[in-house]
Amino acid sequence: MSLPAAPAATVAELVRGLAAKRYSSVELTRAYLDRVAAAQPELNAFITVTGEAALAAAARADEARAAGRGGPLTGVPLAHKDIFCTEGVLTTCGSKMLANFVSPYDATVVAGLRQAGTVMLGKLNMDEFAMGSSNETSYFGPVRNPWDTARVPGGSSGGSAAAVAARIAPAATATDTGGSIRQPAALCGVTGIKPTYGRVSRYGMIAFASSLDQGGLITVSAEDAALLLGPMSGFDPRDSTSVDSPVPDYTATLADSLDGLTIGLVKEFFDDGLDAECGARIREAIAVLEKQGARVREVSCPNLPLSVPTYYVVAPAECSSNLARFDAMRYGLRVGDDGTRSAEEVMSMTREAGFGSEVKRRIILGTYALSAGYYDAFYGSAQKVRTLIQRDLAAAFAKADVLVSPTAPTTAFKFGEKIDDPLAMYLNDIATIPANLAGIPGMSIPNGLADEDGLPSGLQILAPAREDARLYRVGAALEAWHEEVWGKRMIDFAPELKVGA
Ligand code: GLN
Repeated sequence: MSLPAAPAATVAELVRGLAAKRYSSVELTRAYLDRVAAAQPELNAFITVTGEAALAAAARADEARAAGRGGPLTGVPLAHKDIFCTEGVLTTCGSKMLANFVSPYDATVVAGLRQAGTVMLGKLNMDEFAMGSSNETSYFGPVRNPWDTARVPGGSSGGSAAAVAARIAPAATATDTGGSIRQPAALCGVTGIKPTYGRVSRYGMIAFASSLDQGGLITVSAEDAALLLGPMSGFDPRDSTSVDSPVPDYTATLADSLDGLTIGLVKEFFDDGLDAECGARIREAIAVLEKQGARVREVSCPNLPLSVPTYYVVAPAECSSNLARFDAMRYGLRVGDDGTRSAEEVMSMTREAGFGSEVKRRIILGTYALSAGYYDAFYGSAQKVRTLIQRDLAAAFAKADVLVSPTAPTTAFKFGEKIDDPLAMYLNDIATIPANLAGIPGMSIPNGLADEDGLPSGLQILAPAREDARLYRVGAALEAWHEEVWGKRMIDFAPELKVGA
């Protein structure tokens, strides 16, 4: 048995199809829900499917369109990473701690996309509290990579990436603290965008490391990301780090020429550890960008190799503080509350039972790094190195408009390969973490197959803060080239799932 056919490849096509009345939103939503149901046993991409609510929202979208109301996205289905609060719907963050938590309100991202008329299919699986690079830390079981179900989809937004790659959702929201949008996008052959820090509100997005967390999207193309980003971003007074400036229309500059654009290749991103085939694909792509008028130059960021250790002090430190709110008193899991125990005992038993081992490791690491005797040695030093990394990137952007690198050092790895070796797992994010430390935007574009098993690899584009438009432009140029040389999109190479085969 195979999946029911996917209605269309991209959100842009769905927008056109709905406008031309080729299908209704109800038909579209039903088609995706059928695919979700068929793929779920194999992929486990969803934690919650909100089928009934989705069909009701789709019917309202159809009514709005019939009455001449609504916008281009009215009736387009999509799915949200389960880190975003959704009113009246289970919001678990991939954790046992929140396995019973029904949010009383919508995250700003969710509300924005709802107001734009999009239809939520459900909530997507993820690493617990967004900590992980393989989706193996989810309390709800791992997500499988649709290109090869023996392999991980990447993480922490593995559900989002797998769902879009398997075309069971046309697009998905995601979040990126150290690479969680870009790395799974690369491993699943789809597009991932982490906007400039502050562009997308963190209100209602369950916090991991607040100075690094940023909401974004996983889509099939740069154009789809540009279409969806507008309604989900913008100034939000409920997020104190929200950027107070209008969101440009990234679709308007998508097709701009690359003439005169300078592309920087950061030497340190191409050092050892990079899979030879992934590196070769990047060099091919760079040659294409050059043909389109871009200039290429090598730049050096000597402090970049310190990004991973810096991140693994800063992120755990912030997470140890953020996750203190899961105290068994207000919401979520409560264990051992039989009337005989003190609040401290209940709290301790709940945190013992509710958090998985990766989350506990980070809380312990972070608490240690912030403790009085070690604060300067660890947290203080990490903050100084963070500044050095920011300065390195600023110097690189003085010489280049965008920086291009591989997104991840390898293609998708097998389940169990890295889960018992935290350091090997952490090194997956070597190329993605610097953007979070510096607050700059980053995008991963599918960049061909780089493996004898036919697995996808990704190309990362970085731009200075608030220059996100450059990412969409370079991304769209590369996608156009793919279509030209292959006659199809990267997503069209993804094997169609043979469910139960
Ligand atoms: N993989 C990284 C980690 O485990 C990044 C996660 C993320 O971006 N949320 O922390």
